[in-house]
Amino acid sequence: MDLSRFPRRRYTHGATPLEFLPNFSKALGGPKVWIKRDDMLGLTPGGNKTRKLEFLVADALAQGADTLITCGAPQSNHCRATLSASIKEGMKCRFVIEERVPNSYKPDASGNNFLFRLMGVEAITVVPAGSNMLEAMQKVAADLAKEGRKGYIVPGGGSNAIGGLGYVACAQELQQQFFEQGVQIDKIVVGSGSSGTHGGLLAGFMGNHINIPLVGIGVSRDPADQDPLVHKEAQAVADLLGLNMTIPREAVLSFGDWWRPKYSVPNQAMVEAVQMLARTEAILLDPVYTGKIMAGLIGLARKGYFKRDENVLFIHTGGAPSLHAYEAEVLGLTELTA
Ligand SMILES: *Cc1c(COP(=O)(O)O)cnc(C)c1O
Repeated sequence: MDLSRFPRRRYTHGATPLEFLPNFSKALGGPKVWIKRDDMLGLTPGGNKTRKLEFLVADALAQGADTLITCGAPQSNHCRATLSASIKEGMKCRFVIEERVPNSYKPDASGNNFLFRLMGVEAITVVPAGSNMLEAMQKVAADLAKEGRKGYIVPGGGSNAIGGLGYVACAQELQQQFFEQGVQIDKIVVGSGSSGTHGGLLAGFMGNHINIPLVGIGVSRDPADQDPLVHKEAQAVADLLGLNMTIPREAVLSFGDWWRPKYSVPNQAMVEAVQMLARTEAILLDPVYTGKIMAGLIGLARKGYFKRDENVLFIHTGGAPSLHAYEAEVLGLTELTA
């Protein structure tokens, strides 16, 4: 598959590491767990949004935009990465923040909020949960147009067909690493939110004939709501690539058992996962996404879903900056639901 015909900016030097986690695998009692360090991608300080932004920002520049407009939750990694890309490109950046949990946006909060201020976001509009985010971003674009500026709307999570190309590139990078490192992976655990990561990987795997099952872990939805989103994203990416292929609905699999009580709200299984990775491998997960996604891997391992000698790859999608907005929870100092 030839990705070179799509405009792309480069924000990362080389491939992110593919590593075995010996201590963690031992502590878990199997399977053999590997990790793809997409927390080490470029932009401040990495995470899955960087791969999507390489293609999205290239598109924005091709359209002559001077400002990136995007949206997210109060501790959005995606907003922070988009701001970071805008700085590298000499552009401005504006956010629309959705208060998915009422009153959760605190301008002086730590974590990503702190980075929004440090890196100098131009403007933030805060809207209540359930608002039409596209309309809110279009309004920001209209305001900019009145000043003779040109905004480019990056969709939530960077998840559309163009953004999904970033994870097609990741699929190709993985294929090469499996070959060079002589690694045979049996299953891949990937977070499933706005679905560009899961859907982009799926399109990339199908297009490159990689037959490793993708096990999605929902961070905000159960499979009945999540799987159609992933399927739609994978198909949109496949169509943009001109693959001439129908993505089978059965190729989309996710579990919804680890995101509760609510998107971004901590639970006990997340705390265990974050502590376990930190204390066995000195790798930082985050409370909103990768802690819950790894809790899914741990939970599935304990249920016997993975065989003990299987090789399971965890895609580390980043997020560590938000740890600092949840220090007491992650240290186990506050009462949480299971
Ligand atoms: C956005 C995000 C995800 C979810 O990825 P999607 O492509 O939105 O499904 C997972 N982990 C982290 C750290 C994220 O910031």
